[in-house]
Amino acid sequence: MAFVITDPCIGTKDAACVDVCPVDCIHPRKDEPEFATTSMLYIHPDECIDCGACVPACPVAAIYDSPESTPASQRRLIEANAAYRAGDAAAVAQAEAIVKAHIAAHGELMGIAPAERAAAHAK
Ligand code: SF4
Ligand code: SF4
Repeated sequence: MAFVITDPCIGTKDAACVDVCPVDCIHPRKDEPEFATTSMLYIHPDECIDCGACVPACPVAAIYDSPESTPASQRRLIEANAAYRAGDAAAVAQAEAIVKAHIAAHGELMGIAPAERAAAHAK
């Protein structure tokens, strides 16, 4: 079990969740070089302690509390969260490739403003 960041983070990426995470398992942080280029942020599933602090911090409801509760349209991004490793260029590229595939497959969601996107996940 681990929390999962999904597509409302794309186009938002404000790092509000990073500031409240007690175990620093959300990356990239603003002080990491990858922050400028990644599409979204990722939660390391082995490091997340399921505290829930990030959920109310997110202004666009991008974070689900487990892979099981993550809507079907967002399933690919569970894999992206798991793939990302801070400072590992290959892992970063792998996570970003998954996100790009998600974007390509879900034009209907990408056409919605980030703040409204989570509401459309279940439809
Ligand atoms: S649930 Fe807690 S430990 Fe996991 S990413 Fe959110 S703030 Fe960090
Ligand atoms: S608070 Fe939400 S939108 Fe902001 S970086 Fe974290 S997951 Fe992304």
